[in-house]
Amino acid sequence: MNSDATAGGAAAACANTIVIIGAGQAGGWAAQTLRKEGFRGRLVLIGDESHPPHERPPLSKAILAGEAAPESLRLLKPEAFEALSLEWHPAVPVTRIDRAVKSIETANGASIPYDKLILCTGGTARHLAIPGADAAPVHTLRRIEDALALAPVLGPGRAIVVIGGGWIGLEVAATARKRGAGVTVVEAQSRLCERTVPGPVSQHLLALHRSHGTGVMLDASVERITRSPDGRSVVELTDGAKLPCDAIVVGVGLVPNDHLARDAGLECDGGVIVDACCRTSDPDIFAAGDVAVTPNPWAGRRLRLESWQNAQDQGMAAARSALGLAVKYQPLPWFWSDQYDMNLQIYGMPSPAHRVVSRGCAGTASFVLFYLDGNVVKAAIGHNAARDLRFARRLIEQNKTVDAARLSDAEVPMSKL
Ligand SMILES: Cc1cc2nc3c(=O)[nH]c(=O)nc-3n(C[C@H](O)[C@H](O)[C@H](O)COP(=O)(O)OP(=O)(O)OC[C@H]3O[C@@H](n4cnc5c(N)ncnc54)[C@H](O)[C@@H]3O)c2cc1C
Repeated sequence: MNSDATAGGAAAACANTIVIIGAGQAGGWAAQTLRKEGFRGRLVLIGDESHPPHERPPLSKAILAGEAAPESLRLLKPEAFEALSLEWHPAVPVTRIDRAVKSIETANGASIPYDKLILCTGGTARHLAIPGADAAPVHTLRRIEDALALAPVLGPGRAIVVIGGGWIGLEVAATARKRGAGVTVVEAQSRLCERTVPGPVSQHLLALHRSHGTGVMLDASVERITRSPDGRSVVELTDGAKLPCDAIVVGVGLVPNDHLARDAGLECDGGVIVDACCRTSDPDIFAAGDVAVTPNPWAGRRLRLESWQNAQDQGMAAARSALGLAVKYQPLPWFWSDQYDMNLQIYGMPSPAHRVVSRGCAGTASFVLFYLDGNVVKAAIGHNAARDLRFARRLIEQNKTVDAARLSDAEVPMSKL
């Protein structure tokens, strides 16, 4: 299935070529969908990783815990991937998009023409420019290799400092604790996951992690990393606190890989801007997944979603759109996280302007917080409440008026609402 991208091969390309850049989750779904929708032309999938298309959520969970092998992340079984009959170019970064002649260039000097191009380049873990970081064992977590490098470091007797109390940082903290490591989370904001969840949910996360023995330091900024006389790393905070440790994990967000698009003159703003058809400012170029900034009616603005569901659905939508099929991609944002025995799911965009109605008590084993505009549910956050959330999703999508008293009454089945 692998084939060298040669200039000769490019010249021989037919007029019906679709190239996908990025062989992650969105790219993998785009490729499958093109074939499923009947595209029989030349299909080229280029990724700078050596792995076939795969999913990332288990990297911070089962893979880091040593409970699953990297092969389990594959989007498709080898036979199904083979059956797509695509030209797969692993471990080859694309270096340039030449829109004038409609071709892309790769780091190994090849040029491949396209009729339609789909950008699924995802993002890169953001690095922190901390003095002393170069000489310390600092990890980030985005790729399979990152998880494989970090996993052996976590374990009984090890001390881990996690910089960043967002989703990735908290999932790493939970997995490290489960494996017996001592963990301190250092968060610059006054609460955990400040960007994505309201205060009560942050408090719930804080209580969860502290109850498992994790030290959580809020409003805490890292000044530098030094070395103790016994050779351990020491994370020094601006307030003078010193945290000796065996490894440091930085989880401070993602930088979208939009440089190819920017260099090619496509409209970008913190990612590649697309319309509801997943089309960029060039009608022959589409984008999907973590790199795409999409108009989102649920948020009332453009959004770049970093979620498993979006990578799949937008990858499929972009493929259909590239084939000229009618597409209107306007997803209700959905994200989940697993930490310890907690499954937290967020539908929609909770806002401070919303009225909060809770079903079950926040802080207990299972609860849902609904975010209402008047009597209409606009968002919901559920803790170990997957079934209720499926109904909550329908309420949000249907924009239905609800009786808040019945909504908060756990005796009233959600199906009756
Ligand atoms: C550790 C971790 C845990 C997560 N957990 C959850 C979770 O619990 N729930 C949830 O909803 N979401 C979760 N996510 C988010 C979810 O995995 C992502 O939203 C999803 O992987 C995005 O898919 P994508 O295809 O857009 O990007 P990616 O999967 O990152 O794929 C992009 C690919 O493009 C490649 N690429 C980039 N530039 C080039 C280039 N120039 N040439 C060639 N190839 C290139 C990249 O190397 C990469 O292989 C998690 C993510 C991580 C990292």
